[in-house]
Amino acid sequence: MIHLGDRLRRINRIALGSAVATTALIIIVSQIALGLMALIDTTRVQVRVLADNIAAAVIFNDPRSARELLQSLRHSPEVLTATVYLTSGRQFASYRREGTIPPSEHHDDPAEWRLDAERIIWSQPLVFDQEPAGHLDLAVSLGGLYQQTLWQVLVTLLAAALTLKASGLLLRRLNRSVLHPLQDLSGLMEKISSQGTYAGRAGGSDIAELNRLASGFNTMIEQLQSRDASLAAHRDRLEEEVGVRTAELQIAKEAAEAASRAKSEFLATMSHEIRTPMNGVLGMNELLLDSPLSAQQRAWASAAQTSGRHLLGVINDILDFSRIESGRLSLEAVDFDLVDVIDECLAIFAQPAQAKGLALKVVLPEPRPELALRGDPFRLRQVLVNLVGNAIKFTDRGEVTVRVSLAALRDDQIDLHLSVEDTGIGIAAQAQARIFEHFLQADGSTTREYGGTGLGLAICRRLLTLMGGSISVQSQPGEGSRFLVDLTLPRAELPLQRARTTHDAPQRIGLHGHVLLVEDNPINQGLAKAMLAKLGLGWTLAVNGEQAVDLVSAQAFDLVLMDCQMPVMDGFEATRRIRNLPDGRGATLPIIAVTANAMEGDEHRCLDAGMNDYLAKPFGMPALTAMLARWLSETGRRVGSEGEPVPADVPADRAVAAVPAIASVPSGAIDLTVIAALRDLDESGGLGLARELLDCFLSTADEGFIKIRSAIDGGDSATLSAAAHALKSSSANVGATTLSALCRDMEAIGREARIEPARTQLPALSQAYEQAVEQLRELREEMA
Ligand code: ADP
Repeated sequence: MIHLGDRLRRINRIALGSAVATTALIIIVSQIALGLMALIDTTRVQVRVLADNIAAAVIFNDPRSARELLQSLRHSPEVLTATVYLTSGRQFASYRREGTIPPSEHHDDPAEWRLDAERIIWSQPLVFDQEPAGHLDLAVSLGGLYQQTLWQVLVTLLAAALTLKASGLLLRRLNRSVLHPLQDLSGLMEKISSQGTYAGRAGGSDIAELNRLASGFNTMIEQLQSRDASLAAHRDRLEEEVGVRTAELQIAKEAAEAASRAKSEFLATMSHEIRTPMNGVLGMNELLLDSPLSAQQRAWASAAQTSGRHLLGVINDILDFSRIESGRLSLEAVDFDLVDVIDECLAIFAQPAQAKGLALKVVLPEPRPELALRGDPFRLRQVLVNLVGNAIKFTDRGEVTVRVSLAALRDDQIDLHLSVEDTGIGIAAQAQARIFEHFLQADGSTTREYGGTGLGLAICRRLLTLMGGSISVQSQPGEGSRFLVDLTLPRAELPLQRARTTHDAPQRIGLHGHVLLVEDNPINQGLAKAMLAKLGLGWTLAVNGEQAVDLVSAQAFDLVLMDCQMPVMDGFEATRRIRNLPDGRGATLPIIAVTANAMEGDEHRCLDAGMNDYLAKPFGMPALTAMLARWLSETGRRVGSEGEPVPADVPADRAVAAVPAIASVPSGAIDLTVIAALRDLDESGGLGLARELLDCFLSTADEGFIKIRSAIDGGDSATLSAAAHALKSSSANVGATTLSALCRDMEAIGREARIEPARTQLPALSQAYEQAVEQLRELREEMA
């Protein structure tokens, strides 16, 4: 790549050089020609004059004067030789400049003159009176001419060199006037492209083309600048818009999340609130079924039991679904045997299948492999229970088969195919994808004919997704359905003990162990003690957290039932201390939180404090039994272990066994079913426990109520909530449900440190209290 300056210089050099060289050449050549012509002219004149003078001497044969005439040539230094020849050709006289070669022979050349490299030879005829007398040959040297020519060449070259030099300087200045604006322009371009600023402008030039170039460039920069500015403005506007949109979306998202959380919390709370009384209803109804009834009454009670169980199932489904949807359902990872899970599931349906005349079969791979896996057996069973339940529900004749096949047995995990097949009504092709959506059934008539909520399969699919598996269906209407579960589970970490009893299997459960009951409320104490005794468990009482910590550090327990709110030291703190006991004896001890604050977040607080599980107050036998079975059995030490006699056999899902007759007592403020349930908890089966609890309540309640009232009077919200909490709990245990509910409200008011609303509520609480106490007194008298 050559620079423009160099290129211009080279053009100049070539153009100027060739012009000067041509001129110099022309000058030199013309000088030589002119010099030669001048020499010839001078010589001609000289020769003619000499010839005229010498002709007479020749005619008169006077060689002497001829020689003298020739000698006059001495003054012409350029004449080399001169020779006079007679017409006969004989030499008559001659002259020779010293140092020159003698003249050559005369040639009869008709030409006036001849030229060779060194000289001009002139031949002039001699005529006298028009008579030819001979001729004169004259040789003139060209040396002078050469010398002069050389000199002229030198001068010309010098002049050419000077011209070239001068014009070079001049042109350089002219070039600069072109190059400078161009250099400025390219510098500006570089600056713009490297710095990205449009600050500079190209300067003008007196050369029209360059001026046009500069102004064109400036226009272009201005256009670019304004385009950039409008782009930037646009980008800013966009960013601003995106910011606004993002903020709006964020708000909307938060609102949606809050709404979804509120929905899930509402569902969870509602389900929880419904579940507790449902358990009561079912427990009471079972008591009723155990009592002597007429055939008609029994049928009604059985129907009530079925409906109640169904309702409980629906509520559990909704609770599970809302837990999964809000992401609060976490899966366990424990070792289990798949065959146990299937057996448990089939045990549940053995009776219903038999009742419908259906065969219930399990097909396992042959030879039977070890199916010890790690995962959440409870949730896996829930899936199977749903599928087998549906299969039985939608099949009228034939069979239901649970099939296990192994897709791959690997060192660390097993790929399973589980299928549940039936010979029932089948599912239309277009409905097959839909049935896994929540609240959707194959067709609208299903609900009318078979009931159900349409949640079962939705829960199954979500649970399986959480486990990393999947579910699909193959079905022909009228021929049956096949639900396929694909699942990969890791192998169990430890070898499994076979024939373990699982906590809520329908077998009879034997519980063994010693429980530390931490509870400050005497009525709650009484009730819990009775329940524990009924389950055949030993117990020790601690009335506050501090005592509990002392007891745990001094002796071994199998489980702790820990009230959360207690004086001196609450359950959270006590748990933390137990977990941190120096010898680690409290590290693995199962601690179950028992709390009446059935509120979202409580569960977390308990688990955060290091408790293992959570039991909401008031609880019945089924809930307590399930909880204890879960934790006592999972310690793997006691349940069904060999050699140890099982002291008490309790139907796990049944609360109580016999109904006392206390029908004549006026009711309204008191839920008599609660009192009735107390009877069954009594060791002797009588009303002893109920009497004891009523006495306790009647003797302490006044004190509690007065505490509430004076706390309101004194504006002491902390005491108010503590006192209301205590009365809430003890009144619930004796069936004073209205009073308990009002106490719960009062507790909440106290917690929020609002005294005014408490004052407004006090009359209602006072009235409920009076009523409850009055009715309980009457009841107590009846029992006497
Ligand atoms: P539901 O509580 O209604 O049973 P599911 O989600 O368990 O809810 O099932 C959804 C629908 O799928 C059922 O209502 C039924 O129409 C269809 N379905 C499920 N299992 C079967 C089956 N084994 N045979 C025929 N239809 C079935």
